[in-house]
Amino acid sequence: MSCDFLKLAVPGIAGLQPYQPGKPIEELERELGISNIIKLASNENALGPSPRVIEAMPAMTDLYRYPDGNGYILKQALSEIHGVRLDQITLGNGSNDILEFAARAFLTERHSSVFSEHAFAIYPIVTQAVGARGIVTPAKNYGHDLKAILTTIAEDTRLVFIANPNNPTGTCLSTGELQEFLDQVPEQVIVLMDQAYYEYAYGGDYPDCVQWLDRYRNLIVARTFSKAYGLAALRVGYAVSHPQLADLLNRVRQPFNVNSIALRAAVIALQDQAHIEQVVRFNQAGMRQLIAGLDSMGIHFIPSSANFLCIDMEQNAQPIYEQLLRAGVIVRPVASYGLPNHLRVTIGREQENDRFLTALAGILSK
Ligand SMILES: *Cc1c(COP(=O)(O)O)cnc(C)c1O
Repeated sequence: MSCDFLKLAVPGIAGLQPYQPGKPIEELERELGISNIIKLASNENALGPSPRVIEAMPAMTDLYRYPDGNGYILKQALSEIHGVRLDQITLGNGSNDILEFAARAFLTERHSSVFSEHAFAIYPIVTQAVGARGIVTPAKNYGHDLKAILTTIAEDTRLVFIANPNNPTGTCLSTGELQEFLDQVPEQVIVLMDQAYYEYAYGGDYPDCVQWLDRYRNLIVARTFSKAYGLAALRVGYAVSHPQLADLLNRVRQPFNVNSIALRAAVIALQDQAHIEQVVRFNQAGMRQLIAGLDSMGIHFIPSSANFLCIDMEQNAQPIYEQLLRAGVIVRPVASYGLPNHLRVTIGREQENDRFLTALAGILSK
């Protein structure tokens, strides 16, 4: 008799649906035997990181040594940029790591977290992994309904996840909306403000929530080097919070969760803010290009504050996704986010955006 190991798993894990990443280029190459594939599926920054990071790579030796488990130099750089103390910062192996720390630090089988319908897929995963209850609030215009979230917060709720901008919808909440919300969240409920697309959204009515930490002691702000900084492969993210929250997050952190190369690359990337400005302009131009193309085809999309567009195919999007794959264009189906008619397309380089638009027009004209 063979043992059913599923029965041995802790309850949260036994029923867990693993995260589905965007299809890797190499996988599609193997499956279809085609080349010249473009990937607009994972909100990566097609411009890549600062050239200074690339230049520094060959000089990275000392691979036999453990990284600095405290990430001192990176924390120092972040503390200067954000005007916070070192003990307010938690480094993550990507900001997904931070989301998991929060779940492990504040949730058990007896607790719940609250997040929105169509919100980032990692929130339910990290919640369920620790056996906690995830409460989903209905979306409003595809975005977070903060009033619904407030009324949903239960006696046992310890954590609220807010993605701003949200992935996969690109929707964004304003300073006023967020502050009105935070003013009413009970003190014992931690709010994890996920600002993975901060650099793209910043400006106008979009806030730098790190500036609010004195006012809202239950706030954790998460940021990442995976998106605008173009370092998705290296896995670096961080949280800024009240020191006591940072202390708790750091307790569940593996001592060497961010490797030496990633630590160094992040420091160099931070120093090149001109590159980030260029990335943001590149994104704006690509966004205009995609929108013009979609408009000319009469395709609707959710207005986005990030580096992707969630477009409405007004029919089951899966067959269109598959036909795009055959044309060598990888985008992201979002049926698992409750959006079976939508596809999420990352802004790419000009020729990539063009290829996507041309392929889509070809598919729809059939
Ligand atoms: C991409 C993304 C992240 C960050 O992922 P990393 O682990 O930092 O690569 C976090 N939150 C949202 C909403 C995202 O889209």
